Amino acid sequence: MSATNVEQHEVRGMVTDNTKNDQKRDLKLSGQVVGSLPDSTSAQAHESMSMTIEPYQAGADEAYMNKEQRDHFKKILLQWKKNLMEEADRTVTDMKDEANHFPDPTDRATQEEEFSLKLRTRDRERKLIKKIDEALQAIQDEEYGYCEVCGIEIGIQRLEARPTATQCIDCKTLAEIKERQRSR
Ligand SMILES: [Zn+2]
Repeated sequence: MSATNVEQHEVRGMVTDNTKNDQKRDLKLSGQVVGSLPDSTSAQAHESMSMTIEPYQAGADEAYMNKEQRDHFKKILLQWKKNLMEEADRTVTDMKDEANHFPDPTDRATQEEEFSLKLRTRDRERKLIKKIDEALQAIQDEEYGYCEVCGIEIGIQRLEARPTATQCIDCKTLAEIKERQRSR
């Protein structure tokens, strides 16, 4: 799986029409593909977590990435990490529970497929947790929220949708185009 795909699998956070009025947003915090995007890999969507953290309401003359904003994203990242780790624990428990329960060879084959899927999920979770840790470190170092390529502000809105973003939308788009050209 390419780096681009991994990024795409982090898609989360969506505005649900019926909750627009109270400005609440349903943040799906999980390694799984969730949200309104149709995706063939969303078979495990039942494993996804959801939580509601109010989007940050920045004041008109508020400085970008002031302490309040850093705290806001730290809260989101920590909650997300906690959910992912609980999910990873559950995956391991499931696998232990299921092991040796299928003496029939056909069932075993199915089980092996399931295990392989779970291992891939765990791998994705681990990668995500690593990115979350890096983002938390960046907050600590007060470097969070700036594009690692060009240095401009990534922006609150983009970070709400993708708290582990390390590039602005322009640099990210460019990187994805280059990636596509390379893999052609
Ligand atoms: Zn940039």
